Amino acid sequence: SSSLFAGVALAPRDPILGLNEAFNADTRATKVNLGVGVYFDANGKLPLLAAVKEAEKARLAAQPPRGYQPIEGNGAYNQAVQKLLFGADSELLAAGRVVTAQALGGTGALKIGADFLKGLNADAKVYISDPSWENHRALFEAAGFVVENYPYYDAATRGVDFAAMKVFLAGLPAGSVIVLHACCHNPTGADLSDEEWGEVVELCRERGLVPFLDMAYQGFAEGISEDAVAVRLFSASGLQFFVSSSFSKSFSMYGERVGALSIVTADRDESARVLSQVKRVIRTNYSNPPIHGAAVVGAVLASSELCAMWEEELAGMRLRIRAMREGLVGALKEKGVAQDFSFVTRQRGMFSYTGLAAAQVDVLRGEFGIYAVSTGRICLAALNEGNLGYVADAIASIVKA
Ligand code: PLP
Repeated sequence: SSSLFAGVALAPRDPILGLNEAFNADTRATKVNLGVGVYFDANGKLPLLAAVKEAEKARLAAQPPRGYQPIEGNGAYNQAVQKLLFGADSELLAAGRVVTAQALGGTGALKIGADFLKGLNADAKVYISDPSWENHRALFEAAGFVVENYPYYDAATRGVDFAAMKVFLAGLPAGSVIVLHACCHNPTGADLSDEEWGEVVELCRERGLVPFLDMAYQGFAEGISEDAVAVRLFSASGLQFFVSSSFSKSFSMYGERVGALSIVTADRDESARVLSQVKRVIRTNYSNPPIHGAAVVGAVLASSELCAMWEEELAGMRLRIRAMREGLVGALKEKGVAQDFSFVTRQRGMFSYTGLAAAQVDVLRGEFGIYAVSTGRICLAALNEGNLGYVADAIASIVKA
């Protein structure tokens, strides 16, 4: 008799995890993994932030019981999330127009939002940037949507082809869901300017589009409130929209799965009805979220002392990445590379689309043990003083060849 699973096909490997496996198996002492999507410190280590350690110490000492959380999670945490995204003096918050539910990271927030949207408008299509974080397509497809790309990255300028993006968005039917990277676009590092955000808000209003902002890197571009410009502009527009947010990167809490889904409604009454439906989505998925990560983040954000400590540590991560961007561009120039790499310092967040072709990425890996994504995406946060020169030498030898 044949097994129930005899016909199950092997799913394709996650390309980034596959890269990590190959990296781990590489025995060269000089190997460097630029394929990852996490922040490493100046010593190449995953940091545990001092503010997090303090909050955890206090929690451990208090030995809190572990009852169920409310379906929408930790209320104090949710309010702190709202203040970071919308601003402490937000009129929307005062008017009860924002519904926030704790979620399992940014991914969990996207999935709750997607499931809720599917119930709202099953026929809408979802549009993601070309290219986008690769889980966006799979996640919205798993929620039952047809997913298509809108024009975004322009390889010629290494920036955003905003003209093409605008024309495309202007042609979409009302109700289309537009997934927008709120800052630090993954994978390209190319963001919209504040003026361009203003135009996108107007387009969404004119065309009746449904904005879904994905904020996975708040604080990694310019600063906590500076990076919220898209959220603030949409807030001022009077439109309804979605925001998924994550503390995976900004608190270096990847494995604790700390995120949130926020939905802006028309008024307090609508908020109550929307929250009731979001809770139904959560209840039927995992009932209620885990306690620890949100309690720690909530405790940090609730304490002016710990919050100041966190903001300084976050600024440290932001500035170190920027220094590595400048260091890489400077080193390439120094090594006689004629090609202009200054775009690397204009890109924001953890990543850069370097423009290296897949064949060049293969040489980086084969000859130098330097691992990058085949699209040419590298993670600047994986660079440090110890490996920058080696990486720059390798890239220089490849682009000069
Ligand atoms: N959205 C974007 C654009 C991301 O880059 C990431 C993480 O890489 C996520 C969402 C998911 O974040 P989390 O790990 O909190 O689920």
